[in-house]
Amino acid sequence: MNYKDIWVVALGHLKENLPRHAIDAWFEPIKPIGFSDKEIIIEVPNQFFCEWIESHYKKELTDSINISDESVTGYRFSIGAVSKEFEESALVQKETRKPIIHQNNLNRQYTFDNFIEGSNNEFAKNAGRSVADQPGETNFNPLTIYGGVGLGKTHLMHAIGNAAIKKNPNLNVVVVTSERFTLDFVNSLRKNRTIEFAQQYRSADMLLIDDVQFFRGKEQTQEQFFHTFNVLHQSGKQIVMTADKYPGEMKGLQSRLLSRFESGLSVDVQPPNFEVRVAILLEKAEQNGVSLDYEFIEFIARHIKNNVRDLEGAVIRVLAKSSLLNKEIDHTLVRDVVRERTGGALKAGVSIEKIVRKVSEISGVSEQDIVGKSRKMEIAEARQVSMFLSREILGRSLSGIGVFFGGRDHTTVMHAVKTISDKIDSNQKMKDSVNTLRSDLNQNF
Ligand code: ADP
Ligand code: MG
Repeated sequence: MNYKDIWVVALGHLKENLPRHAIDAWFEPIKPIGFSDKEIIIEVPNQFFCEWIESHYKKELTDSINISDESVTGYRFSIGAVSKEFEESALVQKETRKPIIHQNNLNRQYTFDNFIEGSNNEFAKNAGRSVADQPGETNFNPLTIYGGVGLGKTHLMHAIGNAAIKKNPNLNVVVVTSERFTLDFVNSLRKNRTIEFAQQYRSADMLLIDDVQFFRGKEQTQEQFFHTFNVLHQSGKQIVMTADKYPGEMKGLQSRLLSRFESGLSVDVQPPNFEVRVAILLEKAEQNGVSLDYEFIEFIARHIKNNVRDLEGAVIRVLAKSSLLNKEIDHTLVRDVVRERTGGALKAGVSIEKIVRKVSEISGVSEQDIVGKSRKMEIAEARQVSMFLSREILGRSLSGIGVFFGGRDHTTVMHAVKTISDKIDSNQKMKDSVNTLRSDLNQNF
């Protein structure tokens, strides 16, 4: 049998023996891609998949493959075609002990295409594109991408390298973290190979260096980097760096280095707004082969705000949890995951009733009026604030909220949410009272 047929039969066996959710989550995304000796090679989206399958379904998978074709003894994973290439080159590097070749450290999965753009990062992305397109030829040299943790700096930096290589495969793109640079330097000192060290880095057409803040306090490494930087810069090679802060505000780095950094372009990445978070979650769900109802996507996006890595983590965690607990992905499960990841900010006891009670205390409008029919201005406003918070804190569906507030339909709730969020932006008093309510609700329950 050929490997594709074997996989079809094996999948059939698995379907008979495993619950539906496990098949959907872990086996449907698998692609058979060939044979290696007597094993079938199956491609999975990421490392996490391999580990999960190994620890949960190893026996079932081996058996079902073996039943399909006795001559096939088992399976072997491949993690996407590209990252395999990346692992192989790491292997070669280990075996032959080549001095330093870092091109291969480019993570091929970080591209411009899968980097979701929003007002928080579009300037950085566009600057990155120009640099990838014309390395060393724009004024953006060096290009420094700075900002908080988990906001896509490393992703963008690798995307620049990938796009540049795509355009010009001969370009020598050297990519390292500042720690790796330091380690290479220290090792070269130990082995009296500082000349090779310098040559390696100075032969780059494009040097991508991640997290330069970690050069802090390492004087001799900074010295080396300063020279490398100058050689490259003077010969028109492109340098791209990431940092946790605007270069002018970085501490512990020599000022001559910082003034070099500032001579190019520094662009920041900020936390994404709600819509961008939703777009990122949709992308990550697709990448990881999870199908998540839009309702859950919105819920996660409402609660995890400051870090894209956490958004991604939430998607993977939802997937893992539903498999581990043998449960469909439902509201409780998603809430639990979000609660874990926000450190409990989303407290178990908050309910619409409690929101209404709090709003009533603060506004002086009775609870009965809030859920009632009156259109008097202050009553309507208290109702709208309650709806807004029910949506924000509990992530309830629009229609669910409508039902609670006297059987109103979802468009009324949508309107309320929009009205209040506009008022929060334009009216300080509204902003203050909503903030008070938010913190009361989060602390007291
Ligand atoms: P940083 O280097 O700023 O700490 P990373 O680049 O490592 O952050 O990003 C953390 C994770 O979030 C990565 O998996 C990355 O792919 C993802 N990510 C960040 N920003 C975006 C974005 N705009 N679109 C898609 N994925 C993103
Ligand atoms: Mg990073």
